[in-house]
Amino acid sequence: MYKLEVESWFSSAHQLREYKGKCENLHGHNWKVKLQLEGEELNSLGMLVDFTDAKRILSGLMDRLDHKFLNEIEPFDKINPTSELIAKFIADEAGKELPENARVSAVTIWESEKCSATYLP
Ligand SMILES: [Zn+2]
Repeated sequence: MYKLEVESWFSSAHQLREYKGKCENLHGHNWKVKLQLEGEELNSLGMLVDFTDAKRILSGLMDRLDHKFLNEIEPFDKINPTSELIAKFIADEAGKELPENARVSAVTIWESEKCSATYLP
């Protein structure tokens, strides 16, 4: 089994629906994101996934989220933009772009330095 990780971040605003507390108010975070990939087979170059490709996939997803009001973009116009569901969204979307030998093993999102959520597909 091989694993690799790439990290990135994005800054966005969100507002939790039907939440009783201060997070129902509009506010923002600088989210740190870690995308973890795994697989049993390497490609002909001896790579699970080229880091350049892994970073490009994550960067493309960050572009979709960065400097946005998450509640206004799909799928968060319908589901709450919690760290857990943002992690699942990144895992699902990244999975669509990976070569056949690799899969997403985890996505961790830090909403603040000491608070993170991890989605394991
Ligand atoms: Zn928040």
